[in-house]
Amino acid sequence: MVRTARRIETLPPYLFAEMDRKIAERRAAGADVISLGIGDPDQPTPRHIVDAATEAIADASTHRYPSYSGMPAFRDSIAGWYLQRYGVELDPGANILPLIGSKEGIANLAKAFVDPGDCVFVPDPAYPVYEIGTHLAGGLAYPMPCVADNEFLPLLDAIPIDVAERAKIMWLNYPSNPTSAVAPLEFFVSAVDFARAHDLLIAHDAAYSEISFDGYVSPSILQVPGADDVAVEFNSLSKTYNMTGWRVGWMVGCAQAVEALGRVKTNIDSGIFNAVQHAGMAALNGPQDCVVELRKLYESRRDRVCEVFENYGFDFARPKGGVFVWLPVPEGYSSESFTERLLMDADVVVSPGSAYGPSGEGYIRISLTTPDDRLDEAVARIGKSLASA
Ligand SMILES: *Cc1c(COP(=O)(O)O)cnc(C)c1O
Repeated sequence: MVRTARRIETLPPYLFAEMDRKIAERRAAGADVISLGIGDPDQPTPRHIVDAATEAIADASTHRYPSYSGMPAFRDSIAGWYLQRYGVELDPGANILPLIGSKEGIANLAKAFVDPGDCVFVPDPAYPVYEIGTHLAGGLAYPMPCVADNEFLPLLDAIPIDVAERAKIMWLNYPSNPTSAVAPLEFFVSAVDFARAHDLLIAHDAAYSEISFDGYVSPSILQVPGADDVAVEFNSLSKTYNMTGWRVGWMVGCAQAVEALGRVKTNIDSGIFNAVQHAGMAALNGPQDCVVELRKLYESRRDRVCEVFENYGFDFARPKGGVFVWLPVPEGYSSESFTERLLMDADVVVSPGSAYGPSGEGYIRISLTTPDDRLDEAVARIGKSLASA
């Protein structure tokens, strides 16, 4: 018999593996199940981006190993986008590290910063990769509860000093998955102050930075003056340009962190397919009306989903960003039992908030990445179920 490592024994089965199993069960029983569980854009990648990649694939120069640090022209595109979008100047040589999707960078960052026993601050609830990356590096994830009473922002003042002294990284994510909360620039200012006081790295995951509603524009943590001494920001083309399958993203900011994660990665991967980087350049340098359209699409879906729950007295605010609606469950239900009820009653799959951390208990997460007709059908069924309660 072969023997696997102890470090993988405590890994949870990937969140969505469990969900996939439940869906399969209902479908096998003949139900027409609609999944609002997973945040994976349903829309195609915009045509001009696909065309740029198609052309690049035909060019044999893209068929060889890419450079570890990404194509200089791609790094320039990222720098140009940051300047235009945020007014933030980045040195493409020192402040930018292209990634094979941001998830790998998020998971690998701990390898560059965390020694066994070190602490990492992780929002609760959160995208599971922050904690799992920490755990795989032998670190200890220290949860920062993000609750409605504090606008789903962590209370930095509540963090014990001795833990802060042992911490290497603090993860933040706004607009948030799963809570859809947004963070004002003032919050990032206090996070940067905290990082300076305790010599730790702030890692802000900005995957949903371009998906926002009602005219709201998400700030970058790098807009805080001097933030690049202590902060990095992750982003990717996945959500902004419907490119989750392409695997292309980046980490930008703190030069020390860019060098450190780059050193880890040169030893374990071989960079992003150059044709995909050409697609990335087309996305970042090209027309942005596709992003405006995408915002409109999600905003209209958000409104249709929120309306049905508002009609039945659910107490929540419509999200300003992200691709999720984070809803408190009705009295008498847990995250899990309400999720179960929607599956049994309406054949609609949502995510139980408790899957994202203990502070997610009492919520469900509804994803807006389902085609309109299916989303409307799901909303109608949910309405029927709520009416019959
Ligand atoms: C979707 C998502 C990402 C993006 O992952 P990629 O690897 O870039 O596709 C990162 N963080 C969060 C919180 C996400 O939901």
